Amino acid sequence: MEPIVALERIAYLLEREQASTYRVQAFRKAADALRARTAELPRTTAGIAALPGLGPKTAEVVSAARAGEVPGYLAELEARAAAPLAELDAAGAALHAALRGDCHLHSDWSDGGSPIETMARAARDLGHAWVVLTDHSPRLTVARGLSAERLREQLAVVAEVNRRLAPFRLLTGIECDILDDGSLDQEDELLAELDVVVASVHSKLRMASGPMTRRLVNAVRNPLVDVLGHCTGRLVAPGDGVRGGGKERPESVFDAAEVFAACAEHRTAVEINSRPERLDPPHRLLRQAEQAGCLFALDTDAHAPGQLGWQEYGCARAARAGVPPRRVITTWTADQLLDWTRTGRLPQERG
Ligand SMILES: [Zn+2]
Ligand SMILES: [Zn+2]
Repeated sequence: MEPIVALERIAYLLEREQASTYRVQAFRKAADALRARTAELPRTTAGIAALPGLGPKTAEVVSAARAGEVPGYLAELEARAAAPLAELDAAGAALHAALRGDCHLHSDWSDGGSPIETMARAARDLGHAWVVLTDHSPRLTVARGLSAERLREQLAVVAEVNRRLAPFRLLTGIECDILDDGSLDQEDELLAELDVVVASVHSKLRMASGPMTRRLVNAVRNPLVDVLGHCTGRLVAPGDGVRGGGKERPESVFDAAEVFAACAEHRTAVEINSRPERLDPPHRLLRQAEQAGCLFALDTDAHAPGQLGWQEYGCARAARAGVPPRRVITTWTADQLLDWTRTGRLPQERG
């Protein structure tokens, strides 16, 4: 095993189990340091540990990998990773097996931690056929939201990644802020060019129910919008390694019957956000959306490669709410998905 591969695999597995960013970064930085190095490595573990970007723990991994052994720390993590993240019943396992893609993930172009291609490769290695890159829109400056100009630049990069990773498909997209009146934080013309538009509320989450309902309904009936992201905006389960971890936030208040009816009518998918600190929508609303006949996007909202496996959490929740896999757009093929975003047609309605 190559030392760089071992270090990156450790970082990935740490992310998967929600280790702190600080711990994960130690392994990624060590991998980067080795990649940048042209000279041969020192012979002893202590010598490696003294190199810039490395330390005792990462040097131990490098030494073991170089000697042809599986590093002990990696073996420990692999053993833990053999167990599923979430307990899945038969329906949850079937849904998980049926997943082909993910409609919500971020790269280091906005507030993610990894390059576009690293995210795409990790998704492919996980068994996905396609994923949608959805970096933030301009107004979300804290998350380095992309201006129209940067998003256009990104489209060229995505095309390049697709040439390298085919037949895997990286679809173009955005997580677009829903502004106070329900309009969108990006040029219509550009949104229309993208494969998938996820629209989410990231500001004024405490708006009164009336205006919040109008805001969400306006967004989901916009023909440019395909998915309503994390609809309540709540934060639960304070955790250490996850974004927003440690903070709690109550649900936004809105008329769920009206919003989900609009989603069903306009065939905008309700996102089941799998992030452990979000678990959005909560169970009762997920049930309500299911009964309203909504489509669903089972997404990770991953900000790092190791978080792409978090769909298991969403599957457990979707199954408990009785969501049928055929209404989950992330079980569709890329062609079925694109036909739906362009024409509104469901796979079973195609000729
Ligand atoms: Zn978001
Ligand atoms: Zn997001």
